[in-house]
Amino acid sequence: MMKLIDITDKYGLETCKYPLEPYLVPETYRGQPKYKFDLCIGCAACSVACPPNAISVKAVDTKVVWEFDCGRCIFCARCDEVCPTGAIRLSTEYELAAKFDKSALIQRGEMDMASCAECGKLYSTKRLISYTLRKLELSNLSEERIKNAKFYVNLCPECKSKKAILSLETEAKEIL
Ligand code: SF4
Ligand code: SF4
Repeated sequence: MMKLIDITDKYGLETCKYPLEPYLVPETYRGQPKYKFDLCIGCAACSVACPPNAISVKAVDTKVVWEFDCGRCIFCARCDEVCPTGAIRLSTEYELAAKFDKSALIQRGEMDMASCAECGKLYSTKRLISYTLRKLELSNLSEERIKNAKFYVNLCPECKSKKAILSLETEAKEIL
């Protein structure tokens, strides 16, 4: 026993007092992803990038529901890398045990959907459309191109394709 105390005196303590004291992790530690609902635009990039499908982004009635299940997370940080707004970031939180209340592992957000300017179908989140319009304003495209792009941003994919084909046909007729 005395020998052990001598070794500790010589080399210092290698163990930590956790859980009696907080365990300090490095800043780059990959802990629980934290979701900031106010920053989320519902683009679904995180959901597409997430290998174990811990994040889902689904249309439910008139809302887009964003949901994260930490029980499936492998802390790979792909969501953090691809999120364009910083709405999901890995934190240094490591105390994730949930024995009785598994809902503590779920983070969730609901966003209003926007309707297509042509057919009225719900097709995206209002936030994503506003975000895209803001980005267009900041781009160095010509006014004409921005106007054209804004028109298409407000259309659902089907109406967008129909309008694009019509516009190409009109242009082709003018050339011929
Ligand atoms: S850290 Fe990886 S596994 Fe966890 S939610 Fe993000 S992408 Fe999915
Ligand atoms: S804004 Fe970020 S958190 Fe929200 S859906 Fe897009 S990638 Fe995911």
